[in-house]
Amino acid sequence: MVEILTGALFMYIFKETSRNAYNNDRREANFRKNFFKYFGLNLPHADAIDDVLRVLAPVEIEQLKSNLVAGLIEQKILRKFRVLGKYYLVAVDATGMASFEQRHCYHCLMKTSKTGLVTYFHFVLEAKIVTSSGLSISLASEFIENDPERDYEKQDCEQKAFARLAVKIKKYFPRLPICILADGLYPNNTVFDICAKNDWKFTITLKDGNLKTFQSEVGLLRATASKRSVCRADKTTRTNLEYTFLNDLEYTGRPFSWVECMETIVNIKGQVLSGQRFGYITNVPQSLQNVTETADSGRLRWKIENEGFNTQKNLGYALEHKFSRKSFIAMQNYYQLMQIAHMINQLVERSNQVVEILKEHSKQTIVDIWKKMMAYLTIFECEDNLQMPYQPG
Ligand SMILES: [Zn+2]
Repeated sequence: MVEILTGALFMYIFKETSRNAYNNDRREANFRKNFFKYFGLNLPHADAIDDVLRVLAPVEIEQLKSNLVAGLIEQKILRKFRVLGKYYLVAVDATGMASFEQRHCYHCLMKTSKTGLVTYFHFVLEAKIVTSSGLSISLASEFIENDPERDYEKQDCEQKAFARLAVKIKKYFPRLPICILADGLYPNNTVFDICAKNDWKFTITLKDGNLKTFQSEVGLLRATASKRSVCRADKTTRTNLEYTFLNDLEYTGRPFSWVECMETIVNIKGQVLSGQRFGYITNVPQSLQNVTETADSGRLRWKIENEGFNTQKNLGYALEHKFSRKSFIAMQNYYQLMQIAHMINQLVERSNQVVEILKEHSKQTIVDIWKKMMAYLTIFECEDNLQMPYQPG
């Protein structure tokens, strides 16, 4: 089992992007030998991995992932990225995993186009710890899936999945101080209730159409709002940030705060290059001391899309590749292993050794380093007296 799961994990750590690519490297004698020298394990065939991942209960790897993340938290690696001296930022968002012309499994979501064409697809809802340094680490994942026992008229959706995801986060991280970051789909009573029940803070994007009564109250009280201006400058541009906030705005019996950040970027001549407005609803009471941190952390929500989903889709992890054509169980297991591998790689990519190599010249990239590592493992035979970082058993 250790060989099977480590092999599957390394398929992602090596950024193989398919089972076939993994098998091709495994076929190379040096590659197999070197892997054994480093880890004391054989590399299993991708079909053997698939056989196991099709029957292994997904909760097993999910548990493994949360144990590893809990380890990072205990080792205080993420501590300095907390906000307001206490809270880990947890961005929540969904992303598409795969779509099919034919039904892939009984849990597929379905969509019928105007022309009557039916497509089948899978989505996953993620909660990732995000940091200002660009880390995006999966805390918990919940698959948006139809229940074959249920009526297909009422498909599963992101909102229903969020309720289940919250239960999962609380189960694996019962005492973790969390601040939820989410987009304009999330400012609603169900989400506010879940956060209140779990004692979580939140900073949620407020779009123009969201919470009309709340926003009209903001409109009425705007003139009385507190403001703070911040200016950040570099050699070529100046960024003016104007933060505005209101406290104690009641919405369905609870007090919330409203925060807005207007960002204007100007060049040396004073010409405006761009302007943006960001609005949030939060259950953290605002003051002149914490308003910048609250609004700036709200903007880190974006990291789940960029450093999280985009990296996993386009930079070596092939999130949308169908690692298993038929099995929904295998799909979940591959996905969870990908999350673990991505977490390990993010830490490796920020290690001193890799950072030193990246600094060697400005064109050096992570993609290039991985290519060289794979070539090294395939072409050369590593020394025999390697200190094995992992001892089986
Ligand atoms: Zn399916």
